[in-house]
Amino acid sequence: MARHKNLLKNDDLLKYILDTSVYPREHEQLKELREVTMKHISGEMSVPPEEGSFLSIILKLMNAKKAIEIGVFTGYSLLTTALALPKDGKITAIDINRSSFEIGLPFIRKAGVEEKINFIESEAIPILDKMIEEVKDDKEELYDYAFVDADKTNNREYHERLMKLIKIGGVIVYDNTLWSGAVTEPIDSSHSSPPERFIMTKNFFVKFNEFLALDPRLEISQVCIGDGVTICRRIL
Ligand code: SAM
Ligand code: CA
Repeated sequence: MARHKNLLKNDDLLKYILDTSVYPREHEQLKELREVTMKHISGEMSVPPEEGSFLSIILKLMNAKKAIEIGVFTGYSLLTTALALPKDGKITAIDINRSSFEIGLPFIRKAGVEEKINFIESEAIPILDKMIEEVKDDKEELYDYAFVDADKTNNREYHERLMKLIKIGGVIVYDNTLWSGAVTEPIDSSHSSPPERFIMTKNFFVKFNEFLALDPRLEISQVCIGDGVTICRRIL
């Protein structure tokens, strides 16, 4: 069975958090979707439930109404977001693969939040470019929140586009920014030879995290939850 990544000191601590505060409050359809997703061969790709509850609180605290998601998979983070948005909230969700989204769709429907979701099957970049064209003359149309969890090495491309789509005071959340904790390992510590793509993505995150930390347009917080989450608030 697939396992989510987590960076806590031991598994007991994660179990404690899940049993104490996450599972008892997890929405019924999120639980059902999580259980189905964990049987999927790539089930570990989905956002873990403790991160879901954290993102849900952020969305509610900031009164987010208009959201973007890049990287949907079976929809755990998407359903989390849709549930956290108000009744008239909207989320544009982009993924190159509709078939995994369809695994989650029955749970989204059962939860009664399908109306809030505009799923687009596509590479994210051309859709973001189209969205920029749509909002460029009307600041009122800008978005409150974006969650980025797709092909990590395109994050810089996504970032520049999201800076045109997210309003000042809005939030961009990047997932997996601690990359299994590998970001602190020497560049070519390939004794145990992790796959080349893993190393490439780790090297990417090292640079991307430095870039985010120095981006004057943002206030950021690097949070150690799940596989590492960076919360960026647009200030300029
Ligand atoms: N947030 C999801 C969840 O909670 O289940 C997990 C997303 S999974 C880690 C990454 C997803 O990004 C995959 O479903 C993949 O199809 C999608 N993806 C990869 N490259 C993409 C691209 N260039 N544009 C849009 N989606 C992409
Ligand atoms: Ca992720």
